[in-house]
Amino acid sequence: MRNRTGGEQVPIRKVVVVGGGTAGWMCANVLLARSRFDVVLIESPRVSKVGVGEALTPFFFAFLNTVGYDPVAFIKAVRGSVKLAVRFENWLGNGDVYYHPFQDGGDYIGKPEFRVSPGYNRLVSYALAKNVPLHNLATSYSLLCEYGKVPWPRNFQKDEAQYHGYGSYAYHMDTHAFSETFRARALKNGVDHVQGHVVSVNKAADSGRIRSVSLEDGRKVEGDFFVDCSGFRRLLISTMSPEWTSYSPWLPVNRAIAFSIPYSETRDRRSSAIPPYTLARALRGGWLWKIPLRERFGAGYVFADDFISEDDARRELEAINPEWSRQPSHTIRFEAGALRNTWIGNCVAVGLSSGFIEPLESTSIQIALTQILGVVDVLRNPFSYNPRVLDAYNRAIEAETEDIRDFIILHYATPRGDTPFWEHIRNNYRGLDYPESLRDKIETAWHRTCGHNRVQSEQIRGRVFGELSHLYVMQALGLLNPETARADFLQEFDSVERALATVGRPVRRLQTHLLQFRRECLSHREFLDML
Ligand SMILES: Cc1cc2nc3c(=O)[nH]c(=O)nc-3n(C[C@H](O)[C@H](O)[C@H](O)COP(=O)(O)OP(=O)(O)OC[C@H]3O[C@@H](n4cnc5c(N)ncnc54)[C@H](O)[C@@H]3O)c2cc1C
Repeated sequence: MRNRTGGEQVPIRKVVVVGGGTAGWMCANVLLARSRFDVVLIESPRVSKVGVGEALTPFFFAFLNTVGYDPVAFIKAVRGSVKLAVRFENWLGNGDVYYHPFQDGGDYIGKPEFRVSPGYNRLVSYALAKNVPLHNLATSYSLLCEYGKVPWPRNFQKDEAQYHGYGSYAYHMDTHAFSETFRARALKNGVDHVQGHVVSVNKAADSGRIRSVSLEDGRKVEGDFFVDCSGFRRLLISTMSPEWTSYSPWLPVNRAIAFSIPYSETRDRRSSAIPPYTLARALRGGWLWKIPLRERFGAGYVFADDFISEDDARRELEAINPEWSRQPSHTIRFEAGALRNTWIGNCVAVGLSSGFIEPLESTSIQIALTQILGVVDVLRNPFSYNPRVLDAYNRAIEAETEDIRDFIILHYATPRGDTPFWEHIRNNYRGLDYPESLRDKIETAWHRTCGHNRVQSEQIRGRVFGELSHLYVMQALGLLNPETARADFLQEFDSVERALATVGRPVRRLQTHLLQFRRECLSHREFLDML
């Protein structure tokens, strides 16, 4: 049957999700919460999950809200911790440190003593003109990170942990605990969980749509709509002739050695600090992540094998900490890039099967969730296969992915060139050999300090990461011009010196407030122990 706009209407009763990793279980849970479809999830007993992906972004609350899962119960179930920021170490190669905090609830930028007009903010111009890290002034989170604290006050009552009034933050989670928790929840809510290894995909000859998948043991699972959550294998979507866009010219890392670091048993566990941030430390051939969980760190070295061999990467890790080389580890291979169309016919790729930028800024699960919520919003019974509907979804996902890609490439705009990997990165940086969308942002930001003026801020903000996020990274990497910020003041003051002296007074009051606030806050471990 054809509807008025030309799309073929097809009944959708049964949705088959292939893959039981984070993407698969998130998808099954959202489908069960937000639709009336029968949901089947197929999981291979012999292909393991990617086994990483333990740092989240604040957007993850959209998942908890959608499926109705209490955030306190969540952090306990996934043996997780609070994430306020990403801490970057050594990205200029000189021991430098900066934070990219999630926006906190203080909104210091918005205070009337700083916010003069939509296009000019004294606090921003002050920080950039004086070369004071903006992330230390615009938010309390950097300071809290330095002290292993979280923004809940000492007198906080347990139930309030559910309350979001403490600002925008995210979680770290144990990925295996996540799958266990949300598998159990999906089973309770009626998912048909099939343990089986998919060996082939069967399609209708006329429409090219998937009819069923065959399992190794001879069973066949039929469905009306298929979600490919099979990770890097891309079992279903790869049969639909998708187009691949590689990001590797800008993002050359393509392997990771993943391992865990137990918290030291010899230390007093109660007093040892749990950092409230994800660490991203630049190494010789890429970078190291360290994600603090309740009982261990999830860690890994992401590197580019064109520039450093796996043996050398392992030796580098061992030189940092000989203990690390004794931990079990596994190696993951990938190529940074994404499918141009992630929804083709009656198959949509969600999670790693749709692409992977790279783990910096931990955005992959966020993208998967955006995909899942997007599909659930669009899919109806009957569903009208109108090409415009699919195209709108595909373009929106592509735009969001490319926007995040640009923000991640931005972190590599560093002049360090001390190893073959960083020399390659430096060549990209010197030639501004980046996607045009990112080049525009970098060039604009050098010539204009950004305030909260819509016209200006849209030039350097992304769809996902806002203006402040861009400014934190750009300032840390030396991509902002202090002279531009100094000139801002001359619109209002007769000299830059007078401006800095005048604005310096409320800035010092703010700094005193931040120190006081930090003193009143719970340590991360105290907070987790209270839950
Ligand atoms: C090094 C690295 C670090 C990362 N860090 C982060 C991070 O900090 N934050 C973040 O948001 N994301 C991160 N990611 C991405 C994150 O791990 C994934 O987005 C997330 O785990 C979702 O994975 P997935 O479910 O798509 O795939 P997988 O976890 O790989 O799951 C695939 C599933 O498909 C099943 N399967 C495979 N073949 C078959 C078959 N033939 N038949 C049946 N089933 C099959 C498997 O059994 C498995 O259940 C990282 C990724 C990498 C590579």
